[in-house]
Amino acid sequence: MSVDRAATLRGLPSVDALLRRVAERGELPGITRARLTALVRQALDEERSRALTAGASPATVDALAARVVERARQGGVFSLRPVINATGVVLHTNLGRSLMSPLALERLAAVAEAYSNLELDLVRKERGSRYSHVEALLQRLTAAEDALVVNNNAAAVLLALETLAHGREVIVSRGELIEIGGEFRIPDIMLRSGAVLREVGATNRTHLRDYAEAITPATALLLKVHTSNYRVVGFTAEVSSGELVELGRERGIPVMEDLGSGSLVDLRPWGFPHEPTVQEAVASGVDLVSFSGDKLLGGPQAGIVVGRRAVVSRLKKNPWNRALRIDKFTIAALEATLYAYEAGSAFDTVPTLRMLTEPIAAVRSRARRALRRLSPALRERLRASVVDDRAQVGGGALPTVELPTAGLVVGVGAEAMRLDDALRAGDPPVMGRIVRPRTDAKGTRERDERLLLDCRTVLPAQVPALAAALTAAAARL
Ligand SMILES: *Cc1c(COP(=O)(O)O)cnc(C)c1O
Repeated sequence: MSVDRAATLRGLPSVDALLRRVAERGELPGITRARLTALVRQALDEERSRALTAGASPATVDALAARVVERARQGGVFSLRPVINATGVVLHTNLGRSLMSPLALERLAAVAEAYSNLELDLVRKERGSRYSHVEALLQRLTAAEDALVVNNNAAAVLLALETLAHGREVIVSRGELIEIGGEFRIPDIMLRSGAVLREVGATNRTHLRDYAEAITPATALLLKVHTSNYRVVGFTAEVSSGELVELGRERGIPVMEDLGSGSLVDLRPWGFPHEPTVQEAVASGVDLVSFSGDKLLGGPQAGIVVGRRAVVSRLKKNPWNRALRIDKFTIAALEATLYAYEAGSAFDTVPTLRMLTEPIAAVRSRARRALRRLSPALRERLRASVVDDRAQVGGGALPTVELPTAGLVVGVGAEAMRLDDALRAGDPPVMGRIVRPRTDAKGTRERDERLLLDCRTVLPAQVPALAAALTAAAARL
């Protein structure tokens, strides 16, 4: 080791010395000693390599302590924590998709803090099924004969394919071989389930005769997949579930429809394009319908399968089902969410539905409320104003819909980017989106990029926290 190298390393404080200096500052309530030690070691390792590479003397113990404190503060006591979603994307998979209704939260807490009848039939005094708590509700809501719930819709599709088509063929239209993101691709799931994919038709057009001609003794299932996150437009043709059901009946082959978002309500009265509802899919006669619990339904993460009893019961008996099963928290939250649909209160209480259907005037007034909470000097400095914009629904649902929305624009050009970074690093973190707003307050088009804090997805109770986070982020720039 050269003299310089040795001198550099001697200049670094010991783990204990740095830890003591961090502890002396006393600013980090709740951060465990073990985590601080890990952060201290990491900071020392980084500083050692930096100093050696640069041939420079290492930072002082005070500078290193400040770095550790900043990292610990930014990381927070808990890793998973609430953020303010100001992206306007209602079903944001990275931000947790659907929020739970007050009733769902209440039911969750109730079964979390006490023992429950999770697998106990209280009337017959015998072992019961955990699925029984949502089965009857799903049957009544969808008019299906039977229902099953697993971990998510990807699991539902996997379970159905494994049960019905392992070692056999599944016919799917080329236009429906979708990728949903997060590694969910129909061809890959098919491979994993042991089923053999039999693609038919062309990307833009598939006809009933394409399915009919592909049927062989090896065919186990006709699968229809809702192209939730993209649309084929122009010269197109697809086969309806009803037509597939007719073909399947004729040839003795079951039909499944993966609906993806799976809404239980028709959203057309709110200006959305028609999406097939779960009830429509069931009514068309398909044997199995699968959909997500946390997309348009607005419940917890889950994969719901409804359909004919003879087919659903085969899925229930598959040992894979045990590996994909849902826990009591999911059941509690799902039962409460489904209850709201049956009680007719879903549009008032399920956050996903509320956000999707909230009138633009209410969104604008929330944005104005946030604006009023900024100091006049800050408003001026950030050129803050309330603007209208359009947002995506997200979650691979309603991809062509541009939801009218409103929010606060702040910062201009590079400053908007820096504000965005500072807000993401804040507490609570705020996620906005960089836009070129269509219009400013005076109705003229903006040239520079701005940070939009879209208020469609900001909860009314979060408005003060949003304004405070913005004030704090601007102060840190
Ligand atoms: C979203 C989606 C899935 C995956 O559902 P998860 O609940 O996210 O696992 C599967 N199929 C379709 C058509 C989807 O839109």
